[in-house]
Amino acid sequence: MQKLTELSYGYDALEPVIDKETMEIHHTKHLQAYITNYNNLIEGTDFVNMSVEEVLKNSSKLDEKIRQGVINNGGGIYNHNLYFSTLKLDTKLTNPQLIAAIDESFGSLDSMIEQLKTAGLTQFGSGWSFLVVDKNKKLAIVKRANQDTPLNEDATAIFGIDVWEHAYYLNYQNRRPDYLTAISSIIDWPSVESRFLDAIK
Ligand code: MN
Repeated sequence: MQKLTELSYGYDALEPVIDKETMEIHHTKHLQAYITNYNNLIEGTDFVNMSVEEVLKNSSKLDEKIRQGVINNGGGIYNHNLYFSTLKLDTKLTNPQLIAAIDESFGSLDSMIEQLKTAGLTQFGSGWSFLVVDKNKKLAIVKRANQDTPLNEDATAIFGIDVWEHAYYLNYQNRRPDYLTAISSIIDWPSVESRFLDAIK
């Protein structure tokens, strides 16, 4: 069973980039709905005590009747837990290993951010733009539709931008590029650095 994880900050903590109302609805309604649906689908199966990540990695073993629902809602949990725990105002990228990996894969931090934004902008409809550590332990940018995750390619997401309209519409309406630029300025680097170091082990 999955439970709603409390945020380590207030719903207004990311203002003015993300407004309090959007954060509160996103966390207490959208994420909660994924959790409720997931728990209902998985109840009574052998997967009930596994982590969402393990379940998603083993989704081919799920009964066909619940498989897509578990992928959608489990992906919603995985993606949102990442999203909410990797955003913070005014942090700096300082880890030398992560700086070197960004330079190696993208040339520069600015170029990485541009690719992250482009992936989010070109994701037609709803989905995600992710910074991942891929199966070769290299950094890459990938995009996914709906609540799909990079786990299906054996990649670990260390940062992700939600480009579903529910993530930005109150503040940015149709201006997805403005949202992408703004959210790229509130990456919680200490959190991303620690996820990176875990993923390259
Ligand atoms: Mn969302």
